[in-house]
Formats: sequence, C-alpha cells, structure tokens
Amino acid sequence: MANANPVIYPVSNVAEIVNILRNVRGVTIVAGGTELARRQTGRNLRIPPLVLPLARVPELCTITKTERYLEFGPSVTLSAILQLGQKNLPEVLYEALRSVANPGIRSLGTIGGNIAAKGHRLTAFAPLLALDARLEIRSPAEALWVPMSRYFSNTGKTHREPTEFISKIRVPTEHWDYAYFGRIGSPGLITDRTASFSFLVKLQKNILSDLRVAWGGSFFFRNREFENLLIGRTLPLQAKDLETAEERAADYLPDNLFPPSYERSCFFNMLRNSLRSLT
Ligand SMILES: Cc1cc2nc3c(=O)[nH]c(=O)nc-3n(C[C@H](O)[C@H](O)[C@H](O)COP(=O)(O)OP(=O)(O)OC[C@H]3O[C@@H](n4cnc5c(N)ncnc54)[C@H](O)[C@@H]3O)c2cc1C
Repeated sequence: MANANPVIYPVSNVAEIVNILRNVRGVTIVAGGTELARRQTGRNLRIPPLVLPLARVPELCTITKTERYLEFGPSVTLSAILQLGQKNLPEVLYEALRSVANPGIRSLGTIGGNIAAKGHRLTAFAPLLALDARLEIRSPAEALWVPMSRYFSNTGKTHREPTEFISKIRVPTEHWDYAYFGRIGSPGLITDRTASFSFLVKLQKNILSDLRVAWGGSFFFRNREFENLLIGRTLPLQAKDLETAEERAADYLPDNLFPPSYERSCFFNMLRNSLRSLT
C-alpha cells in the first residue's frame, strides 16, 4: 500500500523554502524524485510523510553562463544541461550526464538530486569534484558558497543541517587539454558497485600545469596534495613517475574507508591508464 496523505508544501520561491525548512521538522526535499524512487524496494511507491517539492521553483531552474563558469539551479534537469550541447559543457560532465539512466529519467532527474543523494555518490559527483564545483548552501541564516569537496564526508560525519539545502551549483568551464571520464557497474543503473572516475590535465607547452583526479562511489576521493606530486613534471611522463604516483595514491586512500576491493582495483586501473596517456 502506498502511504496515505503525505503533506506536500507548495513552495514557489527560495524564501518560502527557507521558511518551511526552518519551521517544519522532518520534511523531505524532493526534486525530480527519481533517486528517491530508485531506492524503493516495495511494489508501491512510498512517498515521505512531509514533502518539500523543489522541481518547479523557477529560481532553482535557471542556467547562467559566464566566461568562467556555468551556474545551475539545483532543479535544472540532467537533460536540460545536456541540451546545452557538448561544446558548451566540460567534457567529463557531459560524458557523465549522458551515461545516467535513460532519456526519460534524465528529463526528471536534477543535478541537485544527483549531488545531494545520500550515501552512495552518483555519476555526476566525481566530474563535479574534479572540476572544483562549488555549492551555494542556503540556510535560514545565510547563503554560503562551499567547495563540493568540503561539503561531503566519507565518514558519515557531515556539517549538513536539516534546515539547509543546495541552492546553486557553480562549475568552472576552463579549458582542459586532456579529459577522461569512466564509470564502473551496470550502464545506466546505480548499484552498490557503481562508481565514476574523472581525470583532467592542463598543459603549458609540455609541462603539466594542472591535474585533477576524482572518484565517487561508496567512497569518494580528491586530494590536492596527491595531484601536486605530478604538477610541474615535463611530458612525456616517465615510467618512474607513474610508479611513484600509484604508490603515493595508495597513501591517500585509507584502507579502512576504501578497502581492497573490485572498486579499489578499478580506481587504480583507471588512474594507471589515464597517466599512461601522458607517457
Ligand atoms: C532506473 C534508474 C536508473 C538510474 N541511473 C542512474 C545513473 O546511471 N546515474 C546516476 O547518477 N543516477 C541514476 N539514477 C538516479 C537519479 O535518476 C539521478 O541521480 C537524478 O539526478 C537524481 O535527481 P532527482 O532530482 O530525481 O533526485 P531526488 O530523488 O528528488 O532527490 C535525491 C536526493 O537529493 C535530495 N535533494 C534533491 N535536491 C536537493 C537540493 N537542492 N538540496 C538538498 N538536497 C536535495 C533529496 O532530498 C534526496 O535525498 C537512476 C534512477 C533510476 C530510477
């Protein structure tokens, strides 16, 4: 049986959302609702008792493009982002969104829902982490921009308050000389074994001037110290550089959070293959 009479709070702007989150305990934010639906195991859809629907709030459905970044409202659908076209999107983000589910789900599922889904990190997470995306977090007190890497935690410890929500997502659109996106697990589905990987390289002549490596699944990873190990090296990289990079990567991936597993092996394989493209 579907649960009876959920309370739905009709909101039409950010001020109303803030007001509901401040005053109603236990309310569930729903954007496209596709991730909430995916997690259900029963025959009937169970709707949370108190629902705050964000999908149709105009302020949260805007896309802004400047010279340096793209800014998405969290309720922008994945298909609306893809419609911007491959040329106008960072390659790793385009490839990631194209790999999500199917066109029907992508026309409902939102970028905010993809980032905010609890527990397992979804497909856009690693590309956005690699691209240094920032989130505007709106709470009753303020609107604060935070790097995505700082807003989430692998240990379940999080600073997220029930009264706050993601109100904007800003994605830098700088040029990358080499970009690779890969995912593991069943195509177009999310399971415990799904994860995604992003690798970005910027060159100045033949010197590695920036490098980004990100992973998102049951565990997520991005570490500037690790990336800095290779920045400044001259291309082609030498076999020794690859060996050192792999060894050092292991130091940054704690066994207790990312134990030896199929996923961990996939991360190292993708890292190795990506680095080999620079040899
Ligand atoms: C058959 C199927 C296949 C799928 N395959 C994939 C796949 O391959 N890759 C993939 O990444 N996903 C997949 N999904 C999951 C989902 O469709 C997408 O991740 C989608 O982007 C989720 O967006 P949504 O708006 O539907 O999220 P919702 O279900 O509305 O919300 C997801 C979570 O985010 C929270 N939330 C939503 N918006 C905000 C906000 N602004 N601030 C704070 N919290 C918020 C909600 O409270 C909820 O906890 C699949 C789903 C289905 C049903």
